[in-house]
Amino acid sequence: MEQSNSLGLMNDKLLGFLEEEFKISKLNRLPEKYGGGNIFSHPLVGVAQGNDPIFHKFKKIIGQKHLTPLEMWIASGQDQLSASELYVVSIVFPFVDKIRKESNNPIVLPKITLPAERYIAFATGLGTFSLHEGLITEVGCNIRLASVVTNTPIKISRRKSDEPYANCLSYAKGICKECINKCPANAITVKGHNKVKCNKYRMKVARKMVPRLGSILKPDSRRINWKLKEDIFIVGCELCQFGVPCMEKNPMLSYDMDYS
Ligand code: SF4
Ligand code: SF4
Repeated sequence: MEQSNSLGLMNDKLLGFLEEEFKISKLNRLPEKYGGGNIFSHPLVGVAQGNDPIFHKFKKIIGQKHLTPLEMWIASGQDQLSASELYVVSIVFPFVDKIRKESNNPIVLPKITLPAERYIAFATGLGTFSLHEGLITEVGCNIRLASVVTNTPIKISRRKSDEPYANCLSYAKGICKECINKCPANAITVKGHNKVKCNKYRMKVARKMVPRLGSILKPDSRRINWKLKEDIFIVGCELCQFGVPCMEKNPMLSYDMDYS
């Protein structure tokens, strides 16, 4: 019990630190010419243990190149230890209400969430996948994600279920499918999300938006399909995630109220 309390204290400290950073960091401010104010509101944090069997499942589902926390730890030059001594912390960055509301119109926001981040967030119990393939968390899918692997002991958050689509109304209840109508590229059907069609449309958007947003975008380096791409601007589309029931909440939590 004593150990659980001290681990819980570590979670509180981490959350307090992030809350403070979100308040004061200049990186969390929109340029004044776009109205100023914060970009992200209160962070959410989930934690999985490094030896959680789900990370080995991801290797089978996504591919062998999807590293486990221990493999990531070793690959980044850290000392060998056992997977159970590692903790994976996933952080949800929810956009502030102002941005969520204004983005109901076709405005395009920089996209920085990588698929692997969604898997890590799922592993820590922060949300589940969906028809449009975004992660639906308790604050919806209009979020960005980041994660770290650490050997600092911290309290594990419980995954409510290993069902990967539990928060999506289409998979869980056979209703909604509103994201299908929102997609200008017909990249979503009842069968799921077509990455090729989606990517083609997103590239088209990026060609238009990067010159317009250039002054506020920072060049990034990312591994895309395992290949390192440097000095790229990651700009998305995400129209399927705006003005839909899962935009700002987990719609399954209010399912009885909203649909009965
Ligand atoms: S809009 Fe509806 S069907 Fe599409 S992902 Fe969200 S909950 Fe699922
Ligand atoms: S990101 Fe854009 S193109 Fe891709 S599925 Fe969503 S709405 Fe369609």
